[in-house]
Amino acid sequence: MAHAHGYAVQDAKSPLVPFQFERREPGPHDVCVDILYCGICHSDLHQARNDWSNSLYPMVPGHEIVGRVSAVGAHVKNFKVGDIAGVGCMVDSCRQCAACNADLEQYCAEGATWTYNGTERGSDKLTFGGYSDHVVVEERFVVKVPGNLDIKAVAPLLCAGITTYSPLRHVKVGAGQKVGVIGLGGLGHMGVKFAKAMGAHVVMITTSPDKGKDAKRLGADDILVSRDPAAMAQHAGSFDFLLNTIPVGHDVNPYLGLLKLDGKMGMVGVLTAIDPIIGGNLIFGRKSIFGSGIGGMAETQEMLDFCGKHNIVSDVEMIAIKDVNHAWERMEKNDVRYRFVIDMATLA
Ligand code: NAP
Ligand code: ZN
Repeated sequence: MAHAHGYAVQDAKSPLVPFQFERREPGPHDVCVDILYCGICHSDLHQARNDWSNSLYPMVPGHEIVGRVSAVGAHVKNFKVGDIAGVGCMVDSCRQCAACNADLEQYCAEGATWTYNGTERGSDKLTFGGYSDHVVVEERFVVKVPGNLDIKAVAPLLCAGITTYSPLRHVKVGAGQKVGVIGLGGLGHMGVKFAKAMGAHVVMITTSPDKGKDAKRLGADDILVSRDPAAMAQHAGSFDFLLNTIPVGHDVNPYLGLLKLDGKMGMVGVLTAIDPIIGGNLIFGRKSIFGSGIGGMAETQEMLDFCGKHNIVSDVEMIAIKDVNHAWERMEKNDVRYRFVIDMATLA
């Protein structure tokens, strides 16, 4: 076992505090990554606060990890010491079910092993995430970071990036389509960048009119303030696809009114109850709603390569780890433009 340190919450009410723990030594197929940067996802806060009623404590959050490979097991093929590598929301899966065989490990029939708030496969040992100094991960669940990108701004791609890239690809977003991204936060700002790079006409749909200027800078062609019924009416029946990143239960019916015939809305934000949906809002226009969880490892690598090619990274605000509780408070108040990233050198 190797000594590790990081920040953990001990229960749903207490703040993050320094925490010492053990990690396994790298096995034959494992990669050890010394963590340089870790993004702060809204899911970290949801899970620390037990919003999804599945939290395991102590919890070291963090699943937007970028670092330098410090050791590799004897059978590791794709990584060597010194490589810059990424780790996202999963660190393992059964690797033999239909989903895993289709490179959709996030939908593993046995359940994927989450980077934190999970247990290691075949054991009751808790997994601990990226608010820490290093992580040991099976090679399949580690990705390569393109050399041309600013690595601190790459960290959020490991969750916010893949979670928005995957549903946009699933519905084959491209030129000639009108795409709305609902919620300009960590996920939403990546959704805008990706949809634009894929060639769509992109509308940022927001509750915060003051984010309009930023949305344009990020690539949005237009802004729609969802709390303005007249503006919503102007866009009625016009969208091919809506990417909904709102983190809490809400009324989706007004958004369904924005979709055109056969339009789809992909939900990535709300993991809990959603307000009742009026069936007629789906039936008249043959509209559909689907959910999407992160993305498989092959698609995560594809997303990073797409970012390398199009020079896409996240807009980040760097913080020291001692300020992480304050960053969580600001995220809760919708005061982040657009992703906090912890500089893990500040842990030393
Ligand atoms: P975030 O940075 O806090 O952004 C959420 C955005 O949603 C806010 O910036 C705000 O945008 C909008 N919003 C917030 N509260 C709202 C409300 N009550 N009504 C309408 N809009 C509201 O969060 P994030 O990190 O992007 O994460 C978003 C959600 O995705 C979280 O619930 C997270 O757990 C989830 N998530 C899911 C997956 C997955 O695999 N499906 C992966 C990662 C994260 P405006 O100010 O523009 O309105
Ligand atoms: Zn996340």
